[in-house]
Amino acid sequence: MKEKLQELKEQVLEELATIQTVSALKDTKVKYLGKKGSLTEIMRGMGKLSPEERPIIGQMVNEIRAQLEATIDERSKELEKAELIAKLANEKVDITLPGRKPQEGHLHPVTLTLREMKKIFMRMGFDVMEGPEIENDYFNFEALNLPKDHPARDMQDTFYITEEFLLRTQTSPVQARTMQANEGNAPIRMICPGTVYRNDYDATHSPMFHQVEGLVIDKNISLADLKGTLEVFCKEMFGNNVKIRLRPSFFPFTEPSAEVDISCVMCGGKGCRVCKNSGWLEILGSGMVHPNVLRMSGFDPQEVSGFAFGMGVERIAMLKYGIDDLRLFFENDLRFIRQFK
Ligand SMILES: [Zn+2]
Repeated sequence: MKEKLQELKEQVLEELATIQTVSALKDTKVKYLGKKGSLTEIMRGMGKLSPEERPIIGQMVNEIRAQLEATIDERSKELEKAELIAKLANEKVDITLPGRKPQEGHLHPVTLTLREMKKIFMRMGFDVMEGPEIENDYFNFEALNLPKDHPARDMQDTFYITEEFLLRTQTSPVQARTMQANEGNAPIRMICPGTVYRNDYDATHSPMFHQVEGLVIDKNISLADLKGTLEVFCKEMFGNNVKIRLRPSFFPFTEPSAEVDISCVMCGGKGCRVCKNSGWLEILGSGMVHPNVLRMSGFDPQEVSGFAFGMGVERIAMLKYGIDDLRLFFENDLRFIRQFK
């Protein structure tokens, strides 16, 4: 038994001296010292030894195991160091590579458009007013000449919170609130930008979208003031070559009312797919404030008059950037969003 152990020790030491890689070293360790290794095998045979021999052999096995383990550890350190040196020599760091730029965020195209719209009106002397998105029935409908059974309410189906409270379908309630707060005192010159809600969803309608509405009330305000103001806005927004036209229309809170078109920004008015060959694009609704609306808010229609208009921010952004599906704005696909840096 003693000879067998001695032989095994020498064999292992010899083998360790020739090993060149860390992984081969691990294999050798398992081969001799592992659970099914040669040394363990020998120890299993100890049961056949006499009681006198057993402690002597036992001690010898322990010594050999300790010695082999120490040698393996030492070899392991040497080999790891050698492998690291070899690796460093092979892998060169290319210090000429440019650094990585941190990713910069940017504003959403709807926000960019909204800000530009605000800026244009502020330059013309408009105040920017805001109001609640959860609105009551009175300000959202009734104060705008839309009593409970008015058919136009159907076109503005929205999300009701209670019978009385709803998500506003337009920013017009802010106009009504501002008029009431002014207690019949002119002038008012305001826009109300903000988020509005409707029960609608397709390529040109979203359940949540943005509007900019405007209201001017003063002495001697006429349709010419409305047209002039909108013409300035459209030229600032879409360029000096843009033309506008007013078409008669109907809104309950204005009389007379007009839809406003601009000459097609895609084809310049020649006719194309976007303008359905008409050369014109509808961009907003407008009109002279209805005398009922003035009266309800404490103004005297004999004394003052006014105009109002409202437009969708997404619609303006779609025309400005040539986008054909409104839903793109809200899908948050970065490939789309990042084009507006
Ligand atoms: Zn066109």
